[in-house]
Amino acid sequence: MQVSAETIWEAAQKSLRAMLNTDIYNLWFLPIKAVALDQEVLTLEVADEFCEIWLKDNYSELIHDVLMQDSTQKLMVRFRVNPAGASLHSVAAGEGSTKPAPESAERNLAAVVHEIAFNLENTFESFVVGENNNHAHAAALAVAQTPGQSYNPLFLHSGVGLGKTHLLHAIGQHVAASKKTARVTYLSSEKFTNEYIDAIQNNQLVRFRRKYRQADVLLIDDVQFLAGKERIQEEFFHTFNALHDARKQIVLTCDHPAAEIKNLEDRLVSRFEWGLVTEMQPPDVETRLAILRQKRKAMGVELPEEIISFLAARIRTNIRRLEGALITVASFASLTSKKVTLQSVEGLLREVLHEEGCYLVNIAGIQKKVADYFDLRVSDMISKRRPENIAFPRQIAMFLARQMTENSLNTIGEAFGGRDHGTVLHACRQVKDRMEVDPHVRQVVLHLEKKLLC
Ligand code: ADP
Ligand code: MG
Repeated sequence: MQVSAETIWEAAQKSLRAMLNTDIYNLWFLPIKAVALDQEVLTLEVADEFCEIWLKDNYSELIHDVLMQDSTQKLMVRFRVNPAGASLHSVAAGEGSTKPAPESAERNLAAVVHEIAFNLENTFESFVVGENNNHAHAAALAVAQTPGQSYNPLFLHSGVGLGKTHLLHAIGQHVAASKKTARVTYLSSEKFTNEYIDAIQNNQLVRFRRKYRQADVLLIDDVQFLAGKERIQEEFFHTFNALHDARKQIVLTCDHPAAEIKNLEDRLVSRFEWGLVTEMQPPDVETRLAILRQKRKAMGVELPEEIISFLAARIRTNIRRLEGALITVASFASLTSKKVTLQSVEGLLREVLHEEGCYLVNIAGIQKKVADYFDLRVSDMISKRRPENIAFPRQIAMFLARQMTENSLNTIGEAFGGRDHGTVLHACRQVKDRMEVDPHVRQVVLHLEKKLLC
């Protein structure tokens, strides 16, 4: 007997509710009704076309995964717009809560206005300045001290975990503390989007616009999320212009330079570049050390310098990761009475260290290091020559490439003079076997691995 569409969707909703933030769940998933199950096609009914597009663009993979996880059959999802139109959204929201829909929409918006969104730990004082971020830091400080007068907009970009959100919160808190009457609004572009859609569906657009266009300082995090969303970009464009014309400060962050964001309208890109664009790089080792020492102090834990240096040396690409590693090690230290050793730290952080390694090491780097170590030329790594003094180092290099990078066997084979994946696999087995029986080989491989990471 086939399970009903409702049962399948109920189970999926349960999983989604557990996975997603409540606002997002209530906005997008709660109102959906499963209306038909025909063979392998589950039909989900949504309020309007916009919902359909939005769900397809942003959540189709998640919906698919959740359905796969809960169901024994393979399912495809089809959306259908409710013929009764947009009312579905508010009716469903009304059912789910004890408040009637229009009132709860009002309450939502009101709550956001008074929301304190800042992380109190993310201040200028706790931000460690190094060569990698001193421009961004100086610009952020200038903007916080004289909003609307120095750089407008300020556009900060960097890879993940390098301090963009930290600086935005620092600006916000600085302004809020020094100018009590200033209206500081901080939010991610994702939240801006969700609120906009919510406002449309609840006829609150005027109120939405008023809220954002009255800000004295608007801090928008992760604008890359606007990519491909034309209506939101349009709305944001007008918000931007209104604020900029009124000399209100705008600060934006992004995971790439604006021009590199696909499907971001040119007119927005150009506005994002009107003021000051500044990039943050991954920190150098001194800055990483300074960050770790500062966080160690803030956390009030005692960890030997040796451990701190080890973390600073090995985790280089992402400060959030660095912080995460410190927390892991510190909690381990507080739980055990034994002295924390480098070996135990390596064990604790195996995964992170591996990921960092993959990020930093590439095949060419491995070939060079291995060739240097055995006093060979890099061309020997690629050549077809097979005397043992070349063949074994070459196998070690292939083994390391397999262990330390995310490249496929084929790609590795290609990089070693067009060998096939079988050759690479064979090399990996050879090296592994010899490491097991020959301590000298083991030592050499571990030594090279370590060299490659530092
Ligand atoms: P992003 O927004 O660029 O992804 P975050 O601002 O969330 O990164 O930073 C990740 C973590 O690293 C946060 O806990 C933040 O406080 C910390 N962090 C980042 N840069 C610094 C810095 N220069 N000094 C101290 N902590 C930092
Ligand atoms: Mg961030």
